Amino acid sequence: AVRVRFCPSPTGTPHVGLVRTALYNWAYARRTGGTFVFRIEDTDAARDSQESYGQLLEALRWLGLDWDEGVETGGPFGPYRQSERRGIYQDVAARLLEGGYAYESFSTPEEVEARHRAAGRDPKLGYDGFDRELTEEQKTAYRAEGRRPVLRMRMPEEPVTFTDLVRGEITYPAGSVPDYVIVRGDGNPLYTLTNPVDDAMMRITHVLRGEDLLSSTPRQIVMHRALTDLKLAEGVPAFAHLPMVTGEGNKKLSKRAPESDLFLHRERGFLPEGLLNYLALLGWAISADEDVFTKEQMAAAFDVADVTPNPARFDVKKAEAINGSHMRLLPAEDFRSRLVPYLHGAGLLTAPVYEELGTYERSVLDRSAPLVQERMTLLGESVGMLGFLLTHDQDLQVEEDSLTALRPEAAEILDTAVVALEPLAAQQDGFTTAAIESVLRSAIVDGMEIKPRHAFTPLRVAVTGRRVSPPLFESMEILGAASSLTRLRALR
Ligand code: GLU
Repeated sequence: AVRVRFCPSPTGTPHVGLVRTALYNWAYARRTGGTFVFRIEDTDAARDSQESYGQLLEALRWLGLDWDEGVETGGPFGPYRQSERRGIYQDVAARLLEGGYAYESFSTPEEVEARHRAAGRDPKLGYDGFDRELTEEQKTAYRAEGRRPVLRMRMPEEPVTFTDLVRGEITYPAGSVPDYVIVRGDGNPLYTLTNPVDDAMMRITHVLRGEDLLSSTPRQIVMHRALTDLKLAEGVPAFAHLPMVTGEGNKKLSKRAPESDLFLHRERGFLPEGLLNYLALLGWAISADEDVFTKEQMAAAFDVADVTPNPARFDVKKAEAINGSHMRLLPAEDFRSRLVPYLHGAGLLTAPVYEELGTYERSVLDRSAPLVQERMTLLGESVGMLGFLLTHDQDLQVEEDSLTALRPEAAEILDTAVVALEPLAAQQDGFTTAAIESVLRSAIVDGMEIKPRHAFTPLRVAVTGRRVSPPLFESMEILGAASSLTRLRALR
């Protein structure tokens, strides 16, 4: 059975590339009926943070990527935080040393470089294998100097070859990968040890991860072989290196680029459904002619074999378009509820949850949300689009450039509108969309002979504060006669 894992280090805020990796692992587990393991690689106390740990969990939960085993959930191969597994790594390191797979190495980087130079080689070639066959006397002598050895893994004399599920066969020639450090002089295990050891002990069958980790694969394969010899593993897992996510200039999307920050997309108003869909497209397609799909559809269709090796560009506009499609797919009540935290965050509603709103707020939302559902790509746009309905007349901010763009006849249009609407306002239940539209058309379009395109702009600016808004007549009905007239008069 397939067992895959997502094993981030808790440093910084979740990056979209990292989350794409989580998504592919999740989808592969779901497609195959396998197990999705969520492990935290927090062995670097200087860089890891509890805050980042919390954000990683939050990111997966927000997107709905449920894990079967791992942090918080538990499972048969725990603990799932590497900081709680120190004893295991010490134990495995001792067995690797004892079995001759690893050896103690005392050379300083300066000594290695000096030896390369003396032999006329590039000093940056990396470790030269000098300490491979030290005698006990030599080791004792180094120790007497106060040196503390690192532990290095012995790389084989033959090439290392494997078949990447995305990239095909890859070979690292003999001697191209130096013997590498797995335990520091101070006894701290490194990623080079902890990552493959956990993959082995957690019975991971497929390692799906970013292309940036490709260079560590020959080392990890050698480690898996050693662990298999030691009966700590059941062979080497399959590897799939996912394409790099790029930003400006086709360079790797940097951690500092704003579009790399998952939570920034959430703040702007991406739906988890929409962002997940877009992340899925960074290296994979569900079919040639469809790019809008749900998490469940992805879970039914995803195969690693269909992932492209080509870099995938993160295109914010495309992501927004996909998000807009998901916005329109939402049932009206669901859409309405999702606007609430954004409107609340902008100070326009009294609670962050629909159910906690007052009756008036709810009725405004119930009536206005359908007017904007087709027009929005991000939930955050609701603040600009619906804010006028949730603002007191005296607090309405009219956009400066909308005001200056008004044509000279605007004042007369506003006057005419007020006069035409007053009788409607006086009638019980008279201020309806249809009635408003009909009196305004006959007074302004017919009466003043102004084209509809120009006729209603001043009214829109007066009522909503903007030139772009939800449909005007509906908006006026929702706002009500008193407020609508107050606003028209205020701009006159
Ligand atoms: N902790 C590693 C990272 O965050 C995981 C690498 C892997 O997937 O093997 O890059």
